[in-house]
Amino acid sequence: FSAIGDKREIEQEEYTPGIEPQPTWCPGCGDFGVLKALKGALPEVGRTPDETLTVTGIGCSGKLNSYFNSYGFHTIHGRSLPVARAAKLANPGLEVIAAGGDGDGYGIGGNHFMHTARENHDFTYIVFNNEIFGLTKGQTSPTSPKGHESKTQPHGSAKEPVRPLSLSLTSGASFVARTAAVNPNQAKELIKEAIEHDGFAHIDFLTQCPTWNKDAKQYVPYIDVNESDDYDFDPTNRDEAAEMMRETEEALHDGKVLTGKYYVDEDRPSYQQEKQQIGEMPEEPLAERYFDDSYEWE
Ligand code: SF4
Repeated sequence: FSAIGDKREIEQEEYTPGIEPQPTWCPGCGDFGVLKALKGALPEVGRTPDETLTVTGIGCSGKLNSYFNSYGFHTIHGRSLPVARAAKLANPGLEVIAAGGDGDGYGIGGNHFMHTARENHDFTYIVFNNEIFGLTKGQTSPTSPKGHESKTQPHGSAKEPVRPLSLSLTSGASFVARTAAVNPNQAKELIKEAIEHDGFAHIDFLTQCPTWNKDAKQYVPYIDVNESDDYDFDPTNRDEAAEMMRETEEALHDGKVLTGKYYVDEDRPSYQQEKQQIGEMPEEPLAERYFDDSYEWE
């Protein structure tokens, strides 16, 4: 565990590993946009690589922590959130960022997503949403639109897709945003806000997959609902946020890409704060006890 809080100027390049491998994502893949935004955000919030842990699931997105210089944990499919929760509870000083694809997070790990949001664990979760399973060659995923044709659904998907923003809000996330790989500046700013938010911060990150989802939109042009004069809602108002999310999720399936910060609740305590309030969790990081020979375990 590093000396948390060592404030100094941090260079973006510190987040680039000095060794191979360089990213093996396909040319034009949206995953590059997440990497770029993340490398831009962390120095600006004053976090060094040894203060940061990235936890990933399985998929093309899971390679993120191979290309990002920080502590890393590449978990099994759909299980990045339980590992991220445990790490944050043991060492609250770590900046924990969980990441995975839409299949990993909304399908295989959907149960963890719902309950991590409900419990409001204090870390950032970035979902690379390309509306298919990319690594395994383009199968239908939980966010594939109804009618989407793939090898697993050759006559078109008969299923309604998951609506990630609405699911996140109703599950209890206290920060919900959507951005797109084609908009790295907005992505960087949203990641910074998510990191600085106390509680579960979920970013649905639209990442085009030009290799297996050729017919899908490239998520351009995008509209920032917080900036556009065409949209007027208050992200601190739950009802207005819910309505804006519903409109955004409908619009995406009509080819209109709406992005932005949809919901933020700054008042709700995180899971850890709740546990401390009821006396079930100490103020000091649990991890420190493991390194304290004088600590007397009960
Ligand atoms: Fe990106 Fe798709 Fe290639 Fe995976 S298969 S690296 S998601 S473009």
